[in-house]
Amino acid sequence: MTFPQAAGEIIGRLEEAGYEAWVVGGAVRDAYLAGAAQRPEGTGGAFRRIKSLLHKEEGEPVWGEGVDLHDIDFATDARPEEIEAVFSDCKTVDVGKSFGTIKVVWRDIPYEITTYRSEEGYRDGRHPDRVTYSDKIEEDLLRRDFTMNAMACHPERGLLDPFDGRGDLKKGLLRAVGNPKDRIEEDGLRMLRAVRFAARLGLVLEPHLQEAIQSHKEDLTRLSMERCLEEMTRMLTDKSAGRAIQAMESLGLLPVLIPEIDSALARQRYDFLPPEEDYRWACLLSSLSPQQGESRSRRAKKILRRFKSSNDLQDRVAILLREDIELPKDQSQAQTFVGELGDMAMPYLLFRKSGPDAFLARKKSEIGRRRGQGTKLEKYRDEIIQSMDLVRTVQRNRLPTRVSDLAIGGRDLMDMGYNQGRQIGVTLDRILALVIEGKVENTREALMAWAEESLASSEEEEPIS
Ligand code: ATP
Ligand code: MG
Repeated sequence: MTFPQAAGEIIGRLEEAGYEAWVVGGAVRDAYLAGAAQRPEGTGGAFRRIKSLLHKEEGEPVWGEGVDLHDIDFATDARPEEIEAVFSDCKTVDVGKSFGTIKVVWRDIPYEITTYRSEEGYRDGRHPDRVTYSDKIEEDLLRRDFTMNAMACHPERGLLDPFDGRGDLKKGLLRAVGNPKDRIEEDGLRMLRAVRFAARLGLVLEPHLQEAIQSHKEDLTRLSMERCLEEMTRMLTDKSAGRAIQAMESLGLLPVLIPEIDSALARQRYDFLPPEEDYRWACLLSSLSPQQGESRSRRAKKILRRFKSSNDLQDRVAILLREDIELPKDQSQAQTFVGELGDMAMPYLLFRKSGPDAFLARKKSEIGRRRGQGTKLEKYRDEIIQSMDLVRTVQRNRLPTRVSDLAIGGRDLMDMGYNQGRQIGVTLDRILALVIEGKVENTREALMAWAEESLASSEEEEPIS
């Protein structure tokens, strides 16, 4: 079996110092799946859906294709301080020493090394409030969520798979380690993780796990919103987002987590848009049930605030969902549009062109076409494409779009004798409008001349008392 070089080196370093270490978690699962997908024959299950290749007997993990070699996690019996000491010549980051995790930068790539832990308490289903270190890898695997995530791999000792994660993968099943009801009660986030993994890998929830999820859905309201946000974002940015949201809906999780959503609308395609968090959250929140008085954009922002998302994500999603923005139809309008939306100008147009509203409209127009109509939508799409061209020209030629792009600034106006404050802001806005309309050239001389003239005439009109 090949083993990633850096991982072998990290394990070697810990073991030379007298500790034991394994690669654990997602990387082992993905390497096993990649290996299974490469083997020529077998019994099918999940792999058929993953790569439509069949599986032979007991598979060995294959490191390489399908595995993110940068996302390899390690487990060890060394305690956090001991990990730091073993890697004292490397950059280490304490990402959660109290939970036993140290990040070690090895050959410029950061890896997480976590001390074996056994039971964990999740008070309020939020953060583990206590961790118990352990000396046995088996105990560490026992605390993990699903059988396929509870495998470990070692360059010499090979694969350790105490709960038959491989067997479940072969059957296409997602199974909890231990009693699903207990494991979900212990940490409700595992419900979202189950949906995410099942959708991503095309697995079916083991029936008891499914039952446990359905009967504990209300526990989602007790979880920390930050953890939910992270899991939901991981779900939405995967290619399987559509399938995941459909499962969230049919398991009854979506209405608990975001009751404002109209579930029928949320069952839509997400892969028309790039797998970025802003597009995908905007897609999901475009399915808020209609409500009078408050725009979708504002309501989406509130929901993301409830999830404690960054202000940046809130703002981007709010822009994508704005319905009151006119598409730019000429060069000047495109400049103003870019000035207003900034970096979001192109994403906004792309969202209008390919996002859920366009998708719905497309469906409607197909129906219309069968009745002999349907050119309206094509016209709308052409308009968006034309707007995109205009915006591209503005960006490529760096045409002025904001006051800060002007060849003069507030300081110049102040020196000229403009009143500090409002008069300056208003004047700069006016100059920008004139520049965009092509009435004044954006050069220092031209703008200074215009400003002097304007000041003189305003003084004539209303002398400063
Ligand atoms: P991905 O490829 O999406 O990162 P992953 O399996 O690596 O998948 P992580 O969230 O990175 O998932 O977690 C790493 C490992 O830690 C998991 O494979 C699992 O063994 C364990 N784990 C993570 N979260 C939990 C949890 N809430 N309960 C139990 N075990 C967990
Ligand atoms: Mg991971």
